[in-house]
Amino acid sequence: MIRRRDLRRISRGLRFRLTASYALFFTVLLIGASFLFGIRLNNTLQKEAHDALTDHWDAMKGYLRIEKKHEIDPDERALWYYDENDTEETTIVLDIKKIYMVAAADGKVILDEDDTPAYSEAFKEIFDTPANIRARVAKANPNPAAPNPGPFWDTRRDSDGEQFLIRSGIVWDQVHHRPYYVSLGSPMAQYAKIQSGFTWIFVGVVPSGLVLGGILGWFMAGRALTPVKDVAQAAQRISGSNLSLRIPTREAGDELDYLILTFNRMIERLESSFQQMKQFSTDVSHELRTPITAIRGQLEVALFTAKTTEQYREAMFNALQDIDRLSQIVRALLLLSQAESGQLALQKSRLNLREVAVDLVDQFQIPAEAAGVRLEADLPDHCFVEGDRVQIERMITNLLSNALKFTPEGGQVRLRVVSSPERVEMVVEDTGRGISTEHLPHIFDRFYRVPGSGTAPNPEQGLGLGLSFVAWIVKAHHGKIEVDSAPGKGSRFTITLP
Ligand code: ADP
Repeated sequence: MIRRRDLRRISRGLRFRLTASYALFFTVLLIGASFLFGIRLNNTLQKEAHDALTDHWDAMKGYLRIEKKHEIDPDERALWYYDENDTEETTIVLDIKKIYMVAAADGKVILDEDDTPAYSEAFKEIFDTPANIRARVAKANPNPAAPNPGPFWDTRRDSDGEQFLIRSGIVWDQVHHRPYYVSLGSPMAQYAKIQSGFTWIFVGVVPSGLVLGGILGWFMAGRALTPVKDVAQAAQRISGSNLSLRIPTREAGDELDYLILTFNRMIERLESSFQQMKQFSTDVSHELRTPITAIRGQLEVALFTAKTTEQYREAMFNALQDIDRLSQIVRALLLLSQAESGQLALQKSRLNLREVAVDLVDQFQIPAEAAGVRLEADLPDHCFVEGDRVQIERMITNLLSNALKFTPEGGQVRLRVVSSPERVEMVVEDTGRGISTEHLPHIFDRFYRVPGSGTAPNPEQGLGLGLSFVAWIVKAHHGKIEVDSAPGKGSRFTITLP
């Protein structure tokens, strides 16, 4: 048994609603079309009936005479002159004679040639009396000098309820120069039959249309929605552990394929950030393990092998250094994660990049001299950017300290700022050890350090987080960063800020 909750769920479903729309559409269409067709059929049938009766009327004027049959005849009769050997004429006259009424000028209904009344008793009720016809003609044409046969059309029913189309009027007898009254009838039964046949077809077709539309709609909606179900099922299978799953497209190029594509792209992005997160936690634990192991080693040495105060002090000093490094990593990580999760809001203001650069280059002059590296700046007089002073300083500091770190004695480091109305270009170049192409794509990753070449003064010192920061700062300022580097020749970092 279907429960009410299930019923409500089905009736709210897209499939049901599509089906209902189909069925409604079909029904409205059928009713509309049938209605129009019905009106048209009725008009055509009416015209047909009128045309047929008009033909009879014209034929009647040619075949009918009101005369005495013999000289000795006391009464005039309705005589039909036609060729009995001509089947067409015979058919027409017999057809007219089925339902007709003829009355002489004096209004007396006359007999036909076979001494029967000129209309059957059965049809008496549907015809106007001659007096009536005269009255109607007089009303339509008040001038009696110009008698107008004035055809009147009536639709009447006999006592059995059968419908007849009737044409009545005055016919002018050209031979005897007198009028006589005629009414011709034609049964409408055949037309009514066609009409009611159509109505029944219509009554039958609409519900079947409704049912058919419903079934068709249910089927088509089901077909259209199957891929949606597949997508939902595929989506359900995707979880954190199998983000590599993709929903197969159907190559139909339709909206659903577009949806699937969008969905797949979303999973792709999710997968990549998931991957990054996984990589990050692996890296972090790895990075933290090294100093922790070192501290442990230091302390063990102190505990088990140190004898003199000097040895103790040294072990403690080394441990403290490692602890410093640990907290440095933790601080940097915290800052980076705050930055990347958008918690570190930029305090943007209009700042003169020249001033910032001059200050920083001054600060780096002493370590540069100590390392035997020439540090130069090539700056425009003024150069304004919209940015966060602290972060821009951090960005330049990181780049300059990298350049100094990886440039051997006798080398050169240059900070160049080029400004144009649309953008500011900042270039940090050095003549240091450079980065080989295989490492270039990774230098902005967290904890990535190019495996040591020994040229740098103390490669282990770096955290591998400096460039990650630079990348984030550039992105937060809607800029872009590019690196050109050749091993042994030097590197060039170019930052473009809008
Ligand atoms: P680190 O704290 O180790 O400097 P970074 O993220 O700043 O970390 O840099 C990542 C790696 O990129 C460095 O370990 C170094 O190998 C390489 N690198 C960065 N800048 C330069 C440079 N100017 N010349 C050569 N190598 C560089």
